[in-house]
Amino acid sequence: MKKIQMVDLKGQYLKIKESVDASIAEVLDATAYINGPQVHEFQKNLENYLDVKHVIPCANGTDALQIAMMALDLKPGDEVITADFTFAATVEVIALLQLTPVLVDVDPKTFNIDIDAIKKAITPNTKAIIPVHLFGQCANMEAIMKIAEEHNLFVIEDNAQAIGATYTYSDGKKAKIGTIGHVASTSFFPSKNLGCYGDGGAIFTNDDDLAHKLRGIVNHGMYERYHHDVVGVNSRLDSIQAAVLNTKLEYLDTYNAARLKAANAYDKAFEGHKNIVTPFREGSEDNHVFHQYTLKVKDTNRDALVKHLNDNGIPCGVYYPIPLHLQKAYKDSRYKEEDFVVTNQLVKEVISLPMHTELESDQIDFITSTVINFVNSNS
Ligand SMILES: *Cc1c(COP(=O)(O)O)cnc(C)c1O
Repeated sequence: MKKIQMVDLKGQYLKIKESVDASIAEVLDATAYINGPQVHEFQKNLENYLDVKHVIPCANGTDALQIAMMALDLKPGDEVITADFTFAATVEVIALLQLTPVLVDVDPKTFNIDIDAIKKAITPNTKAIIPVHLFGQCANMEAIMKIAEEHNLFVIEDNAQAIGATYTYSDGKKAKIGTIGHVASTSFFPSKNLGCYGDGGAIFTNDDDLAHKLRGIVNHGMYERYHHDVVGVNSRLDSIQAAVLNTKLEYLDTYNAARLKAANAYDKAFEGHKNIVTPFREGSEDNHVFHQYTLKVKDTNRDALVKHLNDNGIPCGVYYPIPLHLQKAYKDSRYKEEDFVVTNQLVKEVISLPMHTELESDQIDFITSTVINFVNSNS
């Protein structure tokens, strides 16, 4: 059996080495390291893949969120609702822009932002909702867009973990996730479903005016060289990363299919186990692209399981061990513990198993039997 890794970037690279190496060599040869033709080409390719009018490449997924909020002209004191159970980047940029983060609880099954909790959190100061499509599964966008319409709010999708997933509306219509809200952000961090070989990110929107504004903000607020019309930032996807992404975008559906295959094999092995809850999948199969495969373990010492897996050469992760409302940087007297019952429980029960495009069935068998044996003898 090959050594098990949380993410096998090397194995994935070796399969596309020839084309990736050639595309990087092209950039080196042309020396257009910033804003080379590869960036524009990737932008067009991703627009076509997602079926969205505008993709604005930028430096990373955190910048993408920040720039999206800057372009929406949110002002200090405006309240932005997002999930308590997610990576800190989302709340970080809200706070950086001196907006007021309003963290709300998540759904115990999907781990995504809870619709009733959003409704409860809305005040006259609420200006935006940021759903995060956590672990690769689409949030309930139809319900979120309905709330946004009723209260005149912006929806910014944090799509760092679910690129390639497809959302199905109740009437059967489908759309790639990240194209439904007013604007969306994504990350091309190496371990994401579409990862480059450094930092990278992008913003998507179908709104022409917003797209124009976003393109200026990523480039020092310039629409014409040395004319700074708005306050901007320097946030660019470099040509080498764009070249890598151009090659890898062709494989995104294959990669997501490999993740789904691994998730199905995990599900099958854990099926019916009374202490192991496999990831709940909402709707059709294309709704989840398994950025992470995250179990809930019941009546079991989760941290002892983590140690046992590590002792047996199986890496695993706890995403996320601390609710955002309890993080030092984001604590606030506005928050009441009874409003975070689900997140407070999830942080004790969740464990993410190795998930990537190169998992082999003997590795999955070893991982699942090691988990099951431990849980059986320790719960
Ligand atoms: C990875 C991630 C980000 C940040 O992306 P970077 O490219 O690392 O800045 C933001 N939100 C979520 C949910 C993420 O998983």
